[in-house]
Amino acid sequence: MSSFPFADFVTRILAALPVPAIAVTSAQTIHAFNTQAAHIFSDGIKGQHITYALRAPDVLQAINEVLTGGPPRSVECRFRGAVQTLFDVNVSSFAGITKNETFALLIFRDSTREQQIEKVRSDFVANASHELRTPLTTLSGFIDTMQGAAKDDEKARGRFLSLMKAQADRMAQLIDDLLSLSRIEMSEHVRPDGEVDLVQLVAGTADLLSPVARENGCELKLQLPASLVVTGDSAQLSQVFQNLIENAIKYSGDGKRVTVTGRIENSFAIVVVSDNGPGIAPHHVPRLTERFYRVSVQDSRNRGGTGLGLAICKHILNRHRGQLTIESTVGEGSAFSVVLPKKQ
Ligand code: ADP
Repeated sequence: MSSFPFADFVTRILAALPVPAIAVTSAQTIHAFNTQAAHIFSDGIKGQHITYALRAPDVLQAINEVLTGGPPRSVECRFRGAVQTLFDVNVSSFAGITKNETFALLIFRDSTREQQIEKVRSDFVANASHELRTPLTTLSGFIDTMQGAAKDDEKARGRFLSLMKAQADRMAQLIDDLLSLSRIEMSEHVRPDGEVDLVQLVAGTADLLSPVARENGCELKLQLPASLVVTGDSAQLSQVFQNLIENAIKYSGDGKRVTVTGRIENSFAIVVVSDNGPGIAPHHVPRLTERFYRVSVQDSRNRGGTGLGLAICKHILNRHRGQLTIESTVGEGSAFSVVLPKKQ
C-alpha cells in the first residue's frame, strides 16, 4: 500500500480540472497543483509552504479550518500578477490514504470579469438615477416655490413653468436614450440585413437638423459621393448620424462649420463628421463612448445632452460590425468617423 503513488494520483485528478487547483498537506505544504495553477503561482511552489504562493488571510484561515474538520468554504482572493485578478477560491478537504491524513483542496474560479460587469451595472444604475434625480429635484423646488412664495406672482409663474418644461423635457430625453440603448443592446447580436445608402441617409438627417444648425449659427456642409451602400438598419444608422451631426453643431456653435464627407476605402464606407469647434483634450477621447461620460457635465446639460449619445452610436456600430473613431485637437476641432463594411 505504501508504494501507491498517491501524489501522482492527486496530480492527475487536478490536471483534469478546467480551473487552477492546488492540494495542500496537513502541514500546509503544497502537495500537488495543475498547469493552470502553475501559470498563476509558478512551477517552483511544489513542496513549499502555502504562504509561499498565497498570503491572503481569508484563504489561509479557510485552509486551517478545513484541515481541522471544518466545512468547505468559498472565499475571495485578489491576486496581483501582471494583471490584477480576482478569484473565488473554494476550499474543501479530502482524506489521504494513511489514517488521519487530510489534505486541503483549493479550486480557483476567476471572477474578475463578473465583478467588472457587476461594477458597470451598479455604476450605470447609480448614474441613471442621479441623472433623473437632478431635474426631478429642480422640478420639485419650482413646485414648492409656486405653491409658496410665488403663489400670486403671475409673471414669475410663467417663467417657472417654462423652466419646469425644460426639466421635464430633459427627463423625457434621458428616458428615451436609456430605452434606445437597452433596445440596441438587445439586438446587438443580430446582424442587420437591410440595404442602406448612407448618402441618402446622411442627406435626410442633415435636412432634419438644418433648423438646429441655423439656430446655433452653424453652417452645415455635405461633401458626399453619389452613393455609399452598406448592409444595415436604416433607423439605427440614422440615429448615429443624427447624434454625431447634432453634437458637432451644438459643441461648435456660432460662426462655425460642420462638414460631413464620405468615401470608400478598400472594403469600407467611411463617413466623417468634422467641426472646427473647441476640440477635445486627448485624455477624454478614449472615454467619450462610455455611458454618461462627458467632458463637462454642466456644459452637456446646458446644451440638452444626456451623455448617452456616443454610447448609443458605439453600440449601433458594433451591431453593424463597424467602428467609430474620434480625432480631435483642442482649439482646432473634432472629426468623428463612422467606418462600416460596404455592401458586397
Ligand atoms: P452629450 O449628450 O453630453 O452630448 P454624448 O455621448 O453625445 O453626450 O457626448 C459625450 C461628450 O463628448 C459630450 O458631453 C462632449 O463633452 C463631448 N463631445 C461630443 N461631440 C463633441 C464635439 N463635436 N466637439 C466637442 N466635444 C464633443
